[in-house]
Amino acid sequence: MIDLKSMLPEELAQYIQGLGQPAFRAMQVFRWLHQGVESFDEMSNLPKALREKLASECRLSSPTVRHKQVSRLDGTIKYLWQLWDGNFVETVLMRYKYGNTICVSCQVGCNMGCVFCASTIGGKARDLAPSEILDQIIFTQKDSGERVSNIVMMGMGEPLDNFDNMLRFLNLVNHPSGLNIGMRHISVSTCGLIKKIDKLASLGLQLTLSVSLHAPEDHTRSQLMPVNQGIGVNALMDACRRYFQTTGRRISYEYAVIDGVNDSDDQADRLADLLKGQSGHVNLIALNDVKESPLKPSRRVRQFQQRLESHGITVTVRRRLGSDIDASCGQLRRRSMKEEISGAEKESAG
Ligand code: SAH
Repeated sequence: MIDLKSMLPEELAQYIQGLGQPAFRAMQVFRWLHQGVESFDEMSNLPKALREKLASECRLSSPTVRHKQVSRLDGTIKYLWQLWDGNFVETVLMRYKYGNTICVSCQVGCNMGCVFCASTIGGKARDLAPSEILDQIIFTQKDSGERVSNIVMMGMGEPLDNFDNMLRFLNLVNHPSGLNIGMRHISVSTCGLIKKIDKLASLGLQLTLSVSLHAPEDHTRSQLMPVNQGIGVNALMDACRRYFQTTGRRISYEYAVIDGVNDSDDQADRLADLLKGQSGHVNLIALNDVKESPLKPSRRVRQFQQRLESHGITVTVRRRLGSDIDASCGQLRRRSMKEEISGAEKESAG
C-alpha cells in the first residue's frame, strides 16, 4: 500500500497525474492528509472514483490513542499511540505561555544505548515513516484541540539515525499548505552522530540543532553514551563548529546533571573550555528518574550553572514538565502491547 502522507507535494502530483487526474487534485489531497482525515471519503471535494481508487491503493495512517495522561502539575499531555502494525510510540504536548511545544518520537525504541535513558531499553523495533512522525502532531492537535507552534524532535529515537525520514518530515511539516511550522520553530536533538551532523549542515536549514553532550571528557561520556566510543568529544566539537560555520545557527548543548558523575566544578571548567570561542549555549537538565538506572540527579545544579556562567557561558536550566506522568526527558519508552494494555486497564479501573 502506498504511504501518501509521506509524499512531498511534487511526488504526490506525479502520482495523482499518473492516475489521469489534473495536477490541482494533488494539492487538494495534500491538504486533506495534513488536516488528519481518517478516510478517503472525507475528502469531499474529490470525485468519488478518485476516492475509491486512492482507497484501493493507499494506506491512510491514523494512529489510535491507546493511552492519554494529563499532568496535574502543569497540564502537559502524554499520548501513547498505537501504530498500524501494533507498535507504540509516545508524544508529549507541553503548554508554555508563548505557545505549545510538541515533543515527537522518530523511532520505535532507540539503538543508541545511553545508560540514563528509558527509550533505549529493549533497543529499536523500527524507524518511523515521515507520515508517522507528522501524524503525532496532526492527531495531537485534533485530539487536544490545541494548536502546536513549536516542535522538538526529542522524544523516542535518534533523529539522525533516521535521517531521510526526518528530513522528509521536516519538509512536510514546513509546507505552507500543510502545518506550515517554520524551521526556526523546530529543534532536532542528537546524541552526536558526526557524519550526519555534517550532512545536516550541508542542507543549511534554519532549525536549531541540540547536541546531547552530558560530559566534557571521553572517559565519562563513553560510559554514559556508547555512541561516544570511537568518536570522542573532540571530534564531536569539531563537527559542531563546522555546523555553526556552515549554517550560522548556534548549537544548544544538552547536559543532564548526574550526581557524582558529571557535576563537579572541574567538569564545569572543562565544559567551558570546550565551548570557548563558540557562541553555543548550555541547557542543563535535572536527571529524570528511570527506574532501571542507578543514576541520581545532581544536588549541585545551581553551583554547576554558576561555575559555567563564571566562564561567560550562557546557561539555561530546563523546566521539568509532566514529571508526574513520566513525560520528562528520557522517560519515554517503547512498551509491549501486553504490558501497556494491562497497565492502562489497571489505571482506568483505579
Ligand atoms: N536521541 C536524541 C533525542 C533524545 S532525548 C538525543 O540523544 O539527543 C532528548 C534529551 O533528553 C537528550 O538530551 C537526552 O540525552 C536527554 N535525556 C535522556 N534521558 C534522560 C534522563 N533520564 N534525564 C534527563 N535527560 C535525559
